[in-house]
Amino acid sequence: MTDQTTLSPSSDPAPAPIARAKGPTRQLTVVEAHNVTPSMRRVSFVFSGVETFAYQPGQALVFAIPTADGGLGRRDYTIRSLDRNTGRLDVDFVLHGDAPGASWARNAKPGDMLEARGPRGATVFDAEAGWHLLVGDETCIPALFHILEDMPEGTPAAVFIEVGGPEDEQPVETVANLALTWVHRTADRAENDTGLIEALDGFAFPDGRGHAYVIGETGKVRQMRRRLIERGLGKDQVSAEGYWRPGRIGGHDHVKD
Ligand SMILES: Cc1cc2nc3c(=O)[nH]c(=O)nc-3n(C[C@H](O)[C@H](O)[C@H](O)COP(=O)(O)OP(=O)(O)OC[C@H]3O[C@@H](n4cnc5c(N)ncnc54)[C@H](O)[C@@H]3O)c2cc1C
Repeated sequence: MTDQTTLSPSSDPAPAPIARAKGPTRQLTVVEAHNVTPSMRRVSFVFSGVETFAYQPGQALVFAIPTADGGLGRRDYTIRSLDRNTGRLDVDFVLHGDAPGASWARNAKPGDMLEARGPRGATVFDAEAGWHLLVGDETCIPALFHILEDMPEGTPAAVFIEVGGPEDEQPVETVANLALTWVHRTADRAENDTGLIEALDGFAFPDGRGHAYVIGETGKVRQMRRRLIERGLGKDQVSAEGYWRPGRIGGHDHVKD
């Protein structure tokens, strides 16, 4: 299932079905931008109303991003962090190509503004689970790292993240009981690389009830969800989200098949 949230008319060539994001439309102003890794750029925003802005780690905003033809396209980006002392909200953009979101982030500078709605998203920490399996590609890092940073001390957390190479790895601070594995792509195209699936297949489930959070390219997310369920996880124990897919413009695939 694909959904896409509307802020204002989109000029993208293939708009998906529309589901409205909750919450008011906010004007976010850039105060800083820098590269966290060669493939990821962090943009820090401020906005009015931050004092009462509530969200859960893992949730995202829906931005109206300028497109090449002068219009606006809807793109989902995760809240990487919010510093309540400074009012700065960070978003990490994967610099995957010349598409609107990646291009906007590459050129972002203080004073630039974007419209956004939200927060939205149900892939958040499952406090009932005894262990946690967090899996995905670069696009999952903002969500999974924010969830990890917020986990109670000692929470068992196994994490597998696919990136292009060692230069794309990032540190994370957490008091969880973390086992983090970086998987480096070897295939030319991310959607064809199987290293993450193989790493996941090698993970032995701990005893007790766990929860898996699987985020990334839709086709690969679907394969990993199926394999986890075949190995015994219940459907309610897997949160699976397709954050991008070849040929898709913006949007969101909630993977349930
Ligand atoms: C809830 C949610 C949260 C998300 N959070 C983040 C986040 O925090 N940071 C982030 O970077 N992304 C995040 N994404 C993914 C992001 O919204 C998509 O990657 C989006 O397509 C980027 O917009 P764009 O204008 O750059 O590319 P688009 O114009 O949407 O896509 C153009 C083409 O680029 C390719 N493409 C798109 N994304 C990628 C990619 N990541 N890698 C390789 N090829 C790609 C596809 O072939 C696509 O057809 C999130 C998605 C969702 C649904």
